[in-house]
Amino acid sequence: MVFGDQLLDSSFFGILGLLIGSFLNVVIYRLPKMMERQWAVECAEINGNTADPAEPFNLMIPRSKCPHCGHQIQWYENIPVLSHLALRGKCSACKAPISLRYSLVEIATGVLFFVSIWHWGVSSTGFAWCVFSAFLLALALIDWDTTLLPDDLTLPLLWLGLIAATMQWIPTSLQSSLWGAVAGYLSLWSVYWLFKIVTGKEGMGYGDFKLLAALGAWFGWQALIPIILISSVLGAIIGVTMKFTSGLRDGGYIPFGPFLAGAGLAALLWGPRALMQVIGL
Ligand SMILES: [Zn+2]
Repeated sequence: MVFGDQLLDSSFFGILGLLIGSFLNVVIYRLPKMMERQWAVECAEINGNTADPAEPFNLMIPRSKCPHCGHQIQWYENIPVLSHLALRGKCSACKAPISLRYSLVEIATGVLFFVSIWHWGVSSTGFAWCVFSAFLLALALIDWDTTLLPDDLTLPLLWLGLIAATMQWIPTSLQSSLWGAVAGYLSLWSVYWLFKIVTGKEGMGYGDFKLLAALGAWFGWQALIPIILISSVLGAIIGVTMKFTSGLRDGGYIPFGPFLAGAGLAALLWGPRALMQVIGL
């Protein structure tokens, strides 16, 4: 019953993915706020002031609260997807609606974990792609919300890609991984400077370079062109759609990171080779 085992293993990791997704929601919401607090402290120090001692705020403390009424979320109100259904998407105290996005992030993580274990089994390769997809989901949503790609996520993802290639957890050779990281960084860095010299504007952030470097480390330099093309096409489609539905935020800026991450997840699901074929490489 190899098939049954495969289904059981994948389902177990799918459920683990739901729980990790629940943690990713915390990371997505809190990490940018933690960075802003850190910057405020550093700015105060540069100006010779000591920052006001703030309440501790990290991924663990304080406990999650309803943003409307401050009701502290109990553990049984925090079970991925099920609690949302049981509470009918409302806070148990004040009945304010809870965003469906929390459950969607949990489901997406669960599906990616399921698929990774389904394809690669309970193995270093399977685990490596689970970790990879969790990082990309968090980065995509943080960039979408705040236009930030935290170094705390992009740099470990880059290092993990190089380590996974070295350890042969993933089918990317160390050489292809290393040059993927270098070329990934330099390609967007060059576009950034060209754009800046020609138009005087900044079209991208340094986080985008680091994210593409990380994707290069995981998939190898060969995958960079399909990843850039697919993320540009995705970005253009979403950008035009948002323009016509006037969903653009102030200044009309759309972060590039979510589309890079989307292309990275597509490369994971269909394989970088299939992506190259799609664009005729
Ligand atoms: Zn409430």
